[in-house]
Amino acid sequence: MTVQNAFKSWELHKSDSPLIIAGPCSAESEQQVMNTARELQNTQVNLFRAGIWKPRTRPDSFQGVGHIGLKWLQQVQQEFGIQAITEVANTEHIEQVLKHDIRNIWIGARTTTNPFAMQEIANAIKGVDVSVFVKNPINPDCELWIGAIERIQNAGIKRVAAIHRGFSTFNKTQYRNVPQWQIPIELRQQMPDIPMICDPSHIAGHTKPLQEISQKAYDLNFNGLIIETHINPKEAWSDAQQQITPQELKSLLNSLVIRKKNAENNHIKHCLEDLRHKIDYLDDELIGILEQRMQIIEKIAEHKKDNNISVLQSDRWKNLLDQMIDAGSKKGISKECITNVFKAIHQESINKQTKIINNY
Ligand code: PEP
Ligand code: MN
Repeated sequence: MTVQNAFKSWELHKSDSPLIIAGPCSAESEQQVMNTARELQNTQVNLFRAGIWKPRTRPDSFQGVGHIGLKWLQQVQQEFGIQAITEVANTEHIEQVLKHDIRNIWIGARTTTNPFAMQEIANAIKGVDVSVFVKNPINPDCELWIGAIERIQNAGIKRVAAIHRGFSTFNKTQYRNVPQWQIPIELRQQMPDIPMICDPSHIAGHTKPLQEISQKAYDLNFNGLIIETHINPKEAWSDAQQQITPQELKSLLNSLVIRKKNAENNHIKHCLEDLRHKIDYLDDELIGILEQRMQIIEKIAEHKKDNNISVLQSDRWKNLLDQMIDAGSKKGISKECITNVFKAIHQESINKQTKIINNY
């Protein structure tokens, strides 16, 4: 399937066959690029990825081979018939990429955060026939991601996709970049025609969870995957711990189940509708309970105001959260879910109480 085809079928929302992008984090040598690409020809892989200019956190890390590597990508296109894709961050990168006949580019997470850089890129590709894949910004800001995509669309580019690669956090988690699935889901709601690709490699940061994250993306109707694949991952010059071999990629892809987007037969459809009605009913109940809780909060606020007591009672809040986490875990609800829900409820209570106490 060519990229053009893939985009067309996504537009029609008919394709059950995902777009697969694979290849090394970075192009390192002609041999490494060609040997990896050779193993990926005649597989499900539609696009061959390799970073030429690498946005690295520290200046002493490998910064990418630079434009010399574009010749190797051109060779991949010619010898193996797989189109190449690479990262661009400025006008010079775009000029070099187009000169080497590469028609697919991705915008890295650090670049998406910067509207000046996004506009520079958009201006440089105005009217050019390229596919543009926009990674989410490193911070969990859906508007910034949407803005970056709009700048590319405003330049007249028709084939634009989003890549979900997770979000940076200060806290140590099991992920290199936390997925926060609600953000790509929100983007899809606001931009339903933009295909969504998942990047399990940069979400995970290591190889073990790649399968699970990829399956989750398929379960959420993502339109494809970008997975870092290297002929010899242990020796990779960047992101060594998260790359897999072409052989491992093939088994991973074969293990994934592609779900149907919609139920075909009436019985399945009705079953689903019944269950959804039950959910709708419970959601209404939840709103009713929250309303009652807020009414009590108002009474507490009046009481605190009359007796000059402070809004935040840290010990009480800590105990409450611990109790709820404990109660939730007995019912199979994760600590993360309970914490998120009760933090939101608690924040709303504090806002309400502050208003009442200060007569806002
Ligand atoms: C990459 O794809 O190798 C890369 C640098 O990704 P990100 O911009 O998501 O960090
Ligand atoms: Mn990488």
